[in-house]
Amino acid sequence: MEKLVSIVVPCYNEESAIPYFYDEIIKVAKKMKDLNFEFLFINDGSNDNTLDVLKEYHQKDSRIRFISFSRNFGKEAAIYAGLENAKGDYIATMDADLQDPPSLLPKMFDYIEEGYDCVATRRTTRKGEPVIRSFFARKFYKLINKLSKIEMVDGARDYRLMSRKMVDAILSLKEYNRYSKGLFSFVGFETKWIEFENVERVAGETKWSFWKLFIYAIEGIIGFSTVPLMIAAIFGILFCLLAFILIIVIIVKTLIYGDPVSGWPSTICIIFLVSGVQLFCSGIMGAYLSKTYLETKNRPIYIVKETEGDLHE
Ligand code: UDP
Ligand code: MG
Repeated sequence: MEKLVSIVVPCYNEESAIPYFYDEIIKVAKKMKDLNFEFLFINDGSNDNTLDVLKEYHQKDSRIRFISFSRNFGKEAAIYAGLENAKGDYIATMDADLQDPPSLLPKMFDYIEEGYDCVATRRTTRKGEPVIRSFFARKFYKLINKLSKIEMVDGARDYRLMSRKMVDAILSLKEYNRYSKGLFSFVGFETKWIEFENVERVAGETKWSFWKLFIYAIEGIIGFSTVPLMIAAIFGILFCLLAFILIIVIIVKTLIYGDPVSGWPSTICIIFLVSGVQLFCSGIMGAYLSKTYLETKNRPIYIVKETEGDLHE
């Protein structure tokens, strides 16, 4: 029996990129003759004509399926929905803008046939990206790998080909705050990494501002490390020690020199410093608490408004 490969593609305002993507992926699918394909596009609450474009393509090619969200839930939610609804024996996730070259797919599949559960990709260069962004990205990966036991690969894309077993493992992680790079790494399985040079997007524009990436980075740290919580405790201990030493110094000084009133400015400085540290630490705790709060609500990761199935009723 021929195996089925599902290609999961999250799309947010990608009306201009989808035609290029389709042409490209079709070429690759033709080359991989012994396999069947389904292309599952997730319309993540786009406010352009992405949904109409997808409907049109579905009429032309029934291998094209789509799931349309009721609003924008974010790429992580779109990937989850894609994995949950894909029917394939093997499942790939890739971006709609051709920054994840479909031409790598045959090579990736060869590795799967060799016995790997997952073939993941990373880009070796960040050509075409603002220098500042690359700088902070590198620092972020250094930091998170220090803070977390789960390994995060610098330059890793969400472009992967996975076995059904691995996808089922990922789906068993039901958390609401999803950080895919961490989740993929968390489930384990044998992963083969292949590398490619950065490609610029074919059409449309990026949805990630520097600020959004910054927030995403913080989510990654909070989701996969509890070390920042320790920082609060460490600060506490350090400041207790410091206070203890200061008390002794002051007592000794007073005994020797008497007690002239002085040191008012330094007192104010210390109050500022200590309350700053306290606020910082409660901020860290607040960050974890808010994530816990959202998890306990058990809200759905995404909400579907329509799928290709609705067209045939
Ligand atoms: N995307 C999505 N929902 C979002 C933001 C992005 O589904 O809220 C999709 C987008 O359509 C694209 C992929 O995620 O297929 C990567 O987004 P983008 O190319 O903007 O990110 P970049 O490549 O610049 O990191
Ligand atoms: Mg992109």
